[in-house]
Amino acid sequence: MANSKYAYVRNFELPDSLLPGTFMLFRLDGHSFHRFSDQHEFKKPNDVRALELMDHAAKDVMTEYPDIVLAFGESDEFSFLLRKSTTLYNRRESKIVSTLTSLFTSSFVFNWPKYFPDTPLQYLPSFDGRIVLYPEEKYIRDYFAWRQADTHINNLYNTTFWALVQEGGQTTTEAHATLRGTFSKEKHEILFSRFGINYNQLDARFRKGSVLFREENMTKYRSLFSQISSEELVATDTTLIESDKALEDTMAGSEASPTKGETRKA
Ligand code: ATP
Ligand code: ATP
Ligand code: MG
Ligand code: MG
Ligand code: MG
Ligand code: MG
Ligand code: MG
Repeated sequence: MANSKYAYVRNFELPDSLLPGTFMLFRLDGHSFHRFSDQHEFKKPNDVRALELMDHAAKDVMTEYPDIVLAFGESDEFSFLLRKSTTLYNRRESKIVSTLTSLFTSSFVFNWPKYFPDTPLQYLPSFDGRIVLYPEEKYIRDYFAWRQADTHINNLYNTTFWALVQEGGQTTTEAHATLRGTFSKEKHEILFSRFGINYNQLDARFRKGSVLFREENMTKYRSLFSQISSEELVATDTTLIESDKALEDTMAGSEASPTKGETRKA
């Protein structure tokens, strides 16, 4: 072959296959969505159109890859759990990460006009992706509890923050100052006494994120998420996990400020 003297460069490509017999947890996250959400005038704290578009893209990924058994989404991120025994792309990490991330991204862009008919895309959104391996189901359970606690912490903070700004007339700097050092209970109190908002009655999607199951996996994987009724699962396909109590327990002691979210803005 004419190019065989060049073919040796192929040997610089290193194998990157992932350890067999471990759960693959694939997470993607919108790149600079703080800016993206501003530029596209997302409703704050939660733009339901954007969340539904994320769910749509995640469903497309799950449809294309049967080895994904479960997905959890919040804000600009989605996590996907792959079967321990998956042999997808011979478990090559960069092949899996890049292909799934790009499929999600193209679905997000392709379906954008269905969710934002009056808001043309101003520029090209992108997502980062990574895979973490977990050897046991215990870690999978804790992983999803961690992401869902993050949803809760950020949403409680953001909901209170935006109430102070949008209804309380505070500047963003003032609202951050008001919330600095506050605990969960005090945020609930601000929402209720100053704005008449009962946090626990807000859309559960905002408080707990969304979960995509395959029906055939429901029984097997619902044990990861304690208090979920099978009617909910069948009815919506996108459903909710854990009780507020379980969430509060998970987050105990980590409540002073959100891990991310609107804090970066001031
Ligand atoms: P993999 O997922 O492993 O990359 P693949 O089917 O994409 O599998 P490649 O080795 O990447 O395989 O080859 C891409 C193939 O796509 C080419 O062999 C060719 O058949 C087709 N192709 C790509 N671009 C063009 C093009 N511009 N015109 C015609 N055919 C094309
Ligand atoms: P990075 O590139 O490091 O991920 P980022 O700006 O995307 O930076 P994130 O921590 O991922 O930061 O946070 C995403 C941000 O996008 C949120 O803080 C929020 O401002 C915004 N955002 C994402 N989804 C929504 C939504 N559905 N409604 C309102 N705002 C959203
Ligand atoms: Mg980030
Ligand atoms: Mg992001
Ligand atoms: Mg994010
Ligand atoms: Mg090619
Ligand atoms: Mg190719």
